[in-house]
Amino acid sequence: MIKITFPDGTVREYTNGITALEIAESISPRLAQDVVAAGINGETWDLTRPINEDASIKLYKWEDEEGKHAYWHSSAHLMAEALQELYPNIKFGIGPAIENGFYYDVDPGEGVVIKDADLAAVEAKMAELAAKKESIVRQEIAKSEAMKLFGERNETYKTELIGELEDGTITTYTQGSFTDLCRGPHLPNTSYIKAIKLMSIAGAYWRGDEKRPQLTRIYGITFPKKKLLDEYLVLLEEAKKRDHRKIGKELELFTFSQNVGQGLPLWLPKGTQLRLKLEDFLKRIQKRFGYQQVMTPHIGNKLLYVTSGHYAKYGKDSFQPIHTPEEGEEFLLKPMNCPHHCEIYKAFPRSYKDLPLRLAEFGTVYRYEQSGELHGLTRVRGFTQDDAHIFCMPDQVKDEFVKVMDIIHIIFKALDFKDYEAQISLRDPENKEKYIGTEENWNKAEAAIIEVCQEKGINARIELGEAAFYGPKLDFMVKDALGRRWQLGTIQVDYNLPDRFELEYVGADNQKHRPVMIHRAPFGSMERFVAVLIEHTAGKFPLWLTPDQAVILPISEKFNEYAYQIAEELNMQDIRVLVDDRNEKIGRKIRDNELKRIPYMLIVGEKEAENNEVSVRKQGEGDVGLMKITTFAGLIKEEVEKQMNQWQ
Ligand SMILES: [Zn+2]
Ligand SMILES: [Zn+2]
Repeated sequence: MIKITFPDGTVREYTNGITALEIAESISPRLAQDVVAAGINGETWDLTRPINEDASIKLYKWEDEEGKHAYWHSSAHLMAEALQELYPNIKFGIGPAIENGFYYDVDPGEGVVIKDADLAAVEAKMAELAAKKESIVRQEIAKSEAMKLFGERNETYKTELIGELEDGTITTYTQGSFTDLCRGPHLPNTSYIKAIKLMSIAGAYWRGDEKRPQLTRIYGITFPKKKLLDEYLVLLEEAKKRDHRKIGKELELFTFSQNVGQGLPLWLPKGTQLRLKLEDFLKRIQKRFGYQQVMTPHIGNKLLYVTSGHYAKYGKDSFQPIHTPEEGEEFLLKPMNCPHHCEIYKAFPRSYKDLPLRLAEFGTVYRYEQSGELHGLTRVRGFTQDDAHIFCMPDQVKDEFVKVMDIIHIIFKALDFKDYEAQISLRDPENKEKYIGTEENWNKAEAAIIEVCQEKGINARIELGEAAFYGPKLDFMVKDALGRRWQLGTIQVDYNLPDRFELEYVGADNQKHRPVMIHRAPFGSMERFVAVLIEHTAGKFPLWLTPDQAVILPISEKFNEYAYQIAEELNMQDIRVLVDDRNEKIGRKIRDNELKRIPYMLIVGEKEAENNEVSVRKQGEGDVGLMKITTFAGLIKEEVEKQMNQWQ
């Protein structure tokens, strides 16, 4: 008999060799139907793999991340099996599960091309094979045997992979006539896969190396129910409509120019207005929390980054140094603001009374990204971090974390991100010697992060071994209106840079001590945050933030003058308005401006001009009625104030 420990701590005895699926059945047949994989001693296993020792167990359903992973990985195998039947000369690269679905990289064979139009046939074949309920069988196999097996099939990509594996660790999975080199885990059989959609085809170099052959990557996604697939496709359609690149263009927020360079966004006037509002918003909050604003140059001496360690880490793979014509100095485009801020710290002798010192900067940094990786505002080569560095005493770390989290909370609330979660990255307890900083300080900081999350009621996942060598950190993910998760800000404790820059303060004991540094950026970067905000709001920004709060539509040219007169009046009251004085019919003007997502439209004609009034239409609600200009101004101010009161 072996002892199996469940997540709630209960222990049950089972016969040696029992499987997770049989354990699930012993609890309830219903549960056995829903589980797709199991966590055995922290490792994800096949449901049908025998357990031969005392173990802890977690049963994963499709809804669990580990469950989805096994499900989609099995779906990649199913697709491969279907492809093998349809394209007999096909060779396989790798086929992993990804965040949404899976892909397989394949070499269809000499002269064979797989096109979008062929995907329906592959889907149909997959459905046919799934219905056959083929068992997916795991087998441990010697390296020589694996070489022989895949060599005979002329699977040259697989044999290359096998060559790099250690003998004794190799497994294969077989279903029907298809065998894959694979670590697993997998579903018990193919019939778990009910709804199948192959999404797209792309080219992908073998092992990401452009000197190696280009393979065909086929993306797909599968679900245990047709309804889930339908919902997913609707969501995808909605996401397409909200694509920040599309809305950014429609709302004239930002653009890119090949002449300036790829990955270098150009902020247009309306986008700049939006970004400045966001920056103001954060600056005001930060001021309240005792931050001081600083500014530093876009480049720094290479030696600065040699000192910080950034050069050793990023130097070769990023933008190369800039040389001066005369003195032979070398400068780097700033990849990080931290070294500059360390130098600001060092500008004066510091005492414990100066701490915490909180230096904030909207600092633009430049990092090289491969052109294939660039994407709208979310992956760029130049971006502005809402950066700040807090220099404090080890005992102040917890308080500072509380304050940073308060700021993050205010931001998420003001911008209507109702749902967010956090990940706490701690040391690997088995491997403590690879981290810099004292045991005492690490323990303090790690405990502080966990406590703060608990006190704030934040749903935080703890990841052991995920901390940087220089300190633990906390990352935030928000869920947007479509339920998609976005990685945003980070709070990172750092024991390394204070050492490298020999930062000091004089303590109450009159001795010199080393401060702790905390890096934090609640938005992450302005570019990425604006992209997320666009997709979250579909471009309908809150009134306090939106670039234009109202647009005035004169019903004919005769009233343009009146329109401009009101515009000036409202502008004087700090309300952002513009006039659509095009010589177009009023119906057309209304339709066009509705697409611009401007919250209010003010229609003016003879009646309005005579009485100093405007006819107000509200975005999404329609006609609100006729009112005096002062009344409208009051209405806007009140609405903005109400929104701002939430975070003031
Ligand atoms: Zn596999
Ligand atoms: Zn930093």
